[in-house]
Amino acid sequence: MRKITLIVVHCTAGPQSQCAADIVRYHTLPRRRGGLGWSTPGYHYIVEPSGYVAQVVPDWDIANGVKGHNEHAIHVAYVGGVDTSRRDLPAVDNRTEAQKLALRSLLGRLRRDYPSARIVGHRNLARKACPSFDAMKEYADL
Ligand SMILES: [Zn+2]
Repeated sequence: MRKITLIVVHCTAGPQSQCAADIVRYHTLPRRRGGLGWSTPGYHYIVEPSGYVAQVVPDWDIANGVKGHNEHAIHVAYVGGVDTSRRDLPAVDNRTEAQKLALRSLLGRLRRDYPSARIVGHRNLARKACPSFDAMKEYADL
């Protein structure tokens, strides 16, 4: 197992009608087919609006979550995080209650598995709104 020092919380910045497989397809499809053409998806875990948690990259593999911060990170995303009714897609914390419960449970488990890792939001590592809420504050007790 690689050394894990960061557990990074993300939003998918897309509609909540998407499922985990849609996100993986978007990240890994070649550009000519409308994807981003990444060799691995951007997240290890994707939390769907129902609260279902899909693990799409094993913990021992590197996911393409935050440039320069991937080697020692586990990336967790919830589906949503933007207001898709507006053209400019402003950041909004639209986690469902099921997503909040599933995120807290998953992050608690990851903190127990990787006790030297700290939980941060993508916004704490880059100039981004992701994950559209203050993850460091919300999960400070885990
Ligand atoms: Zn992010």
